[in-house]
Amino acid sequence: MTVYNFAAGPATLPDPVIKQIQAELPSLQGTGMSVLEISHRSAMFDDIINTAEQDIRDLMHVPANYHILFFQGGGTGQFAAAPLNLATQHKRIALLDSGHWASRAGDEAANLGVTVDTIASTKDKHYQELPHLDKPLSAEDYDYLHVTTNNTIEGTAYHTLPEHGDVTLVGDLSSNFMAENYNVQDFGLIFGGVQKNLGPAGVTITIVRDDLVKPVEHIPSILNYALFVKKNSMFNTPPVFAIYATGLVLKWLKQQGGLAEIEEVNRKKAALLYDFLDDSKLFTNYIKKSDRSLTNVPFTTDNPDLDTQVIQAAADSGLMNLKGHRSVGGLRASLYNAMPVKGVQALVDFLHNFETQH
Ligand SMILES: *Cc1c(COP(=O)(O)O)cnc(C)c1O
Repeated sequence: MTVYNFAAGPATLPDPVIKQIQAELPSLQGTGMSVLEISHRSAMFDDIINTAEQDIRDLMHVPANYHILFFQGGGTGQFAAAPLNLATQHKRIALLDSGHWASRAGDEAANLGVTVDTIASTKDKHYQELPHLDKPLSAEDYDYLHVTTNNTIEGTAYHTLPEHGDVTLVGDLSSNFMAENYNVQDFGLIFGGVQKNLGPAGVTITIVRDDLVKPVEHIPSILNYALFVKKNSMFNTPPVFAIYATGLVLKWLKQQGGLAEIEEVNRKKAALLYDFLDDSKLFTNYIKKSDRSLTNVPFTTDNPDLDTQVIQAAADSGLMNLKGHRSVGGLRASLYNAMPVKGVQALVDFLHNFETQH
C-alpha cells in the first residue's frame, strides 16, 4: 500500500531524499564515518553548511545584505530571539493576531518585557479569515510588526503581505517556507523551523537584514544574532544531521526548478482539494476563499463522530495523519513541498468515495 503522510510537522520528506540518507548513512562520501558522527568543525561539515546556505540564497534570491543563520529551538525559539535582538529601541512591537502561532509569538515577546500591541485580530471570527491593518504603521512607534505568513492550524495565508508602512516586518514563515514565494526584501527578518517544508525537526532557518544585527547585551548567546553571524552559525554544536538532511531537500527543491515552479505545483495541489471540498455535500472548508492556505487545509463534516470515522478509514487506506488540531477539530491535510500531486489526488478520490457511501 502506498502511504501518504499529511502530518502538519514533522512532515513528509521527498522520497529521493530519504533514499539518499539511507544510502549515505553508514559512510558519508566514502569516509567510513556517518554524518551522525562527524565533527561540526570538519571540512566536510563546513561544506555541508556553506552549501545549504548558498542554496537557500539561490532559491529565495536572498540579497547580499541579508544573513542566513541556523539555530536550534524551533520557531518557538525565534519567538524569543526576534524581540530579544530587534525590540531594543522602543521595546514595543505590533502584532497581527491571525491565529494560535501569532498569539504564541506575542505571549513570548510579552514575557520578555516587550509591549505587544495587537493591531488587529480575527479571533472573534475563529480565525477563518486574516486580520489586516487599518493604516500603515510607523517605525517611530514600533521596533517591528510580527506577521505569521501561513497559519498552520487555522489554514489561512497572506498571499499578499499587509501594507505595513515603514515599520520593519518580521515574518514567521514556519509553515510555508519555500512553499510560497515571498520577496525577502519585504522583510527585515524571516524565520521558521524546517520540519514542515524543508527537512527533519532540529534546525531553524533565520534570514535577517544586516542593519538589524546589532550587539545586544544580556541575552542568551544561543539566541544572539550578532554572535551567530560572527560564528557562521557555529557558536556551539549545531544540529549536524538536520542541516545535512535539509541540504539534501534544498538540492531536491532546486531540481524541481526553483520556488516559482514549486509554488505552482503547490497551487495545483491546493486547488485539487479545495475544488473537491467546495463541490462536496459532506465536507466543508470554512476559510474565506482569498485567505486560504496552500499548505494546510482544514475541513470537516460538522459531525465529530463522522470526522473520526473518516480519519480512521483514511488511515486504513494509507492516508495518514489527517486529524485536525485539537483547537479546531475536524480534519486537516498538510500539503507541504514534498507531498506529491498524486498524494492529494489519492486523498480526493478517497473522500469522494467516502461521501458516495455516506
Ligand atoms: C510549527 C509552527 C511554529 C512552532 O515551531 P516549532 O519549531 O515547533 O517551535 C511556529 N509558527 C508556525 C507558523 C508554525 O507552523
